Amino acid sequence: MNKHLLSIHDVTAEDIVRVLDTADSFREVGTRVIKKVPALRGRTVVNLFYENSTRTRISFELAAKRLSADVINFSTGGSSVSKGESLKDTALTLQAMGADAIVIRHSSSGSPYQLTKWVKGSVLNAGDGTHEHPTQALLDLYTIRERLGRLEGLRTAIVGDVLHSRVARSLSFALVKMGAEVTLVGPPTLIPPTAPRWGVEVSYDIESVLPKLDVCYMLRVQRERQRQQYFPSVREYARLFGLSRERVAMLPEGALIMHPGPMNRGVEIDSDVADLPQAVIEEQVTNGIAVRMSLLYLLLGGSGAAGAPPIPVEEPEQVALIGGVRGGSPAGTSRGAHGSEAGGPPDQEKLEVGADA
Ligand code: ASP
Ligand code: ASP
Repeated sequence: MNKHLLSIHDVTAEDIVRVLDTADSFREVGTRVIKKVPALRGRTVVNLFYENSTRTRISFELAAKRLSADVINFSTGGSSVSKGESLKDTALTLQAMGADAIVIRHSSSGSPYQLTKWVKGSVLNAGDGTHEHPTQALLDLYTIRERLGRLEGLRTAIVGDVLHSRVARSLSFALVKMGAEVTLVGPPTLIPPTAPRWGVEVSYDIESVLPKLDVCYMLRVQRERQRQQYFPSVREYARLFGLSRERVAMLPEGALIMHPGPMNRGVEIDSDVADLPQAVIEEQVTNGIAVRMSLLYLLLGGSGAAGAPPIPVEEPEQVALIGGVRGGSPAGTSRGAHGSEAGGPPDQEKLEVGADA
């Protein structure tokens, strides 16, 4: 593995398999009563969030804490950043304090890369502008592999605001790398002109694509990143590209419905569709913790080979855990309900402002 995870281009297909296999062994930790292993004891992980985020930050925080790392959360409100401190000075300060890993979310594409020049620790990109969100793509691959047993040869579609979506970029690169077929679907104004070079197909007609899919991945309409009018109205967008009950019926049996969150219920996805059994949106969130544990562990030089569970034998409290209760759901991972439950007509008010996942 590379020292940093800035982009899906930093990992090979073998690396991805290793990350997913290692995540498998960490997922079990999340089902224990005491959800902790000592794998990163004494190491320091800093969450450096320059953009609003609740779920991604909590997911990284839980991942680091479950590995027994010391976690520092640094967000821009109330910090020296609001007094004008630059990213470089913040980075040098964190470096001076001995951060082993820095998880960064920033509204400028490329800032995680910039950070690698100033710090000695590993840098993990938790979303940079409209560029990439590689940990999201990896947790999505994990969820797909878990449900469908494989990635190679799967037919997938990523639907919606691809142009502004760092999730769509990272996920397309990752799926193509693993041998899946990807079709990007959306209005022509929201499909980047460079998309054909990603190794994907493009379609402007969701209904012609649905019947051949194994995975239908819906993107949030990201109004806060759109600087002009890309479609006439939210209502029209929902009618042309939203995943309604009728459209779900066009999917083959067993196809998965996914969404990175936060959802605009009633816009890109109907409220009741998001709660169907084939919608694995909450599983994506739960798996995100195990995948981020795996990444922190592997990037910080965890010695365990793929699949080797880091069994905490020397910890008395941990020994007591083995055989602990299974099936509990990890704390703090439940998906926040966004938008209206009522499923009324979509309107501006329902749109999520500010990416917080
Ligand atoms: N959308 C969230 C993220 O970016 C999902 C999660 O917290 O796992 O990570
Ligand atoms: N949570 C994801 C992101 O930060 C997706 C989204 O915001 O729509 O990119």
